[in-house]
Amino acid sequence: MDQKLYGQIVDNFFTCSPELITAIFREFLLAVQAESSLPPSPRMAQNYETAQANPEIHVLPGNLKDARDAVFPYFWGTDGWFSPLHLENVKGPANYASLVGALACLLKNPNLCTDTYSQRSNELEIKAVTALANLLFYHIEDPWGVFTMGGTISNLYGAKLGIEKTCPGAMHNGLDGTGIAGIVSEAAHYSNLTLAGWLGLGTKNLHSIPTDETFAMRLDLLEQKLEELHADGARVAFVTATLGTTDSSGIDDVAAIHGILESFAARRGVTRPQLHVDAAVGWVLSFLAAYDAAQNELGFSPSTLALVQRAQRATAGLRAADSITIDFHKMGWGHYPASAFLVRSRQDLRYLSRSTEDMPYFSEADGRRDPAVFTLETSRPAFGPYTVMASLNGIGLAGWQLLVARALELAEDLKQRLERLEYCKVLNLGAIGPSVVWWVLPKGRNAKEIYERTVSGQMPEDKFSRYAAEIRRLFEKREKNLDPRLDARLSFTLNAGHKAHGLALPAWKAVFFNPLTDGAVLDRLIYSIEELL
Ligand SMILES: *Cc1c(COP(=O)(O)O)cnc(C)c1O
Repeated sequence: MDQKLYGQIVDNFFTCSPELITAIFREFLLAVQAESSLPPSPRMAQNYETAQANPEIHVLPGNLKDARDAVFPYFWGTDGWFSPLHLENVKGPANYASLVGALACLLKNPNLCTDTYSQRSNELEIKAVTALANLLFYHIEDPWGVFTMGGTISNLYGAKLGIEKTCPGAMHNGLDGTGIAGIVSEAAHYSNLTLAGWLGLGTKNLHSIPTDETFAMRLDLLEQKLEELHADGARVAFVTATLGTTDSSGIDDVAAIHGILESFAARRGVTRPQLHVDAAVGWVLSFLAAYDAAQNELGFSPSTLALVQRAQRATAGLRAADSITIDFHKMGWGHYPASAFLVRSRQDLRYLSRSTEDMPYFSEADGRRDPAVFTLETSRPAFGPYTVMASLNGIGLAGWQLLVARALELAEDLKQRLERLEYCKVLNLGAIGPSVVWWVLPKGRNAKEIYERTVSGQMPEDKFSRYAAEIRRLFEKREKNLDPRLDARLSFTLNAGHKAHGLALPAWKAVFFNPLTDGAVLDRLIYSIEELL
């Protein structure tokens, strides 16, 4: 063996040189800083053929600069979503407290599967999930939670708990022919279909309940569906309510759904379906739950205080949930992956437990604290706990309240300004959240009247599709003419989450996700709409 070369490898790749590493890290940071003056890149050129045709790896050992060079071309110019002009989606810049947490995590590389591998990181996870659970459930006795790789998986945990509760032993026996069903609203995220497929429930057994004009699940139709499924002999394993639909910030009435499920279970003598809440986007409203509007220490204006109070009413229902999904990597401005699945009662984890005989590697695992006993994943990164605790404590409760209130203020401001234009109609005027969905019609059209006729069922389908085409065409016109240095990036949805008498409502969409976005961006957005027509 070439001892000299071996020694070089150990020196270069397994020996910590703070100077070398920080120098390379500094280069990356300076690149990010240099890019910050660039407009948002709409779509980067990608060359998959070249990537596939050039998979060669270096033969001779190099050093950390070779490692840097291997990734730098893909790093430079890539959009980090820092531009205040990004309004197109629930995508925003990660905050730098989260970066500090993530770097600390990377340096120790803990594995959350068991506390012998993670050392104190499982403790940090308990702290993080308890902090989040206190915020969301509003301080309860015995919360518990676990970080997962995304909202999809957190929702999957909620559904799985429901299956285990209504179909005892399913983990071992499988569904064994038992007809089970799950329920969501028609505005729910598509990840619920993913999990229905993957859990063996079958996507056809995931039922979606129509929403009302506020994008909230229709409670009368929920009751009807529960009865219908029961009459068909199906067991309803879970109802997943959405707190903050992805497009329109619609909010299901969690407390009312809880009441409906309780009385359904009592009436029919069945196990109450799991009430899971998908708050992947909407959870941040909970930062405002404890804000004292009378004291108003952060000096919110009367109109902002009204938004804060609406947020408080919207999140009050979370206390009735059995389990909740939150995505810190969305409105927590955190790094991927940081999603948490939270349950109101730690007792529930017994439904997911494996015995230590099933996992001989972890014979020392302790079900009271070792997530390996019940998690879907085995190796699990500690990014969630590190980025969440660094962000929560770095930014502080008051900081979070300011950030969330500001996003709500900007969304509300845009809604009010659009609504004043005769040819525009905001579709989620009453919703509370960072997103705005609206129509822009040609000048001369009365958008409000067209909307009223649509939601009250007086709009013929062919006529509606002509209006829908106009809304789309105007969006495309703005896209074509926009000045990338000045104009915000918006997106277009073909279905904002409500079918008005069978008609899916298309919409322009903006999400206020970047703390750097300001009133000038809004002014310019309104101007770009007025210019169009
Ligand atoms: C984004 C989203 C999800 C999926 O979360 P991932 O973290 O992307 O897996 C689930 N529900 C809602 C409401 C979402 O917006």
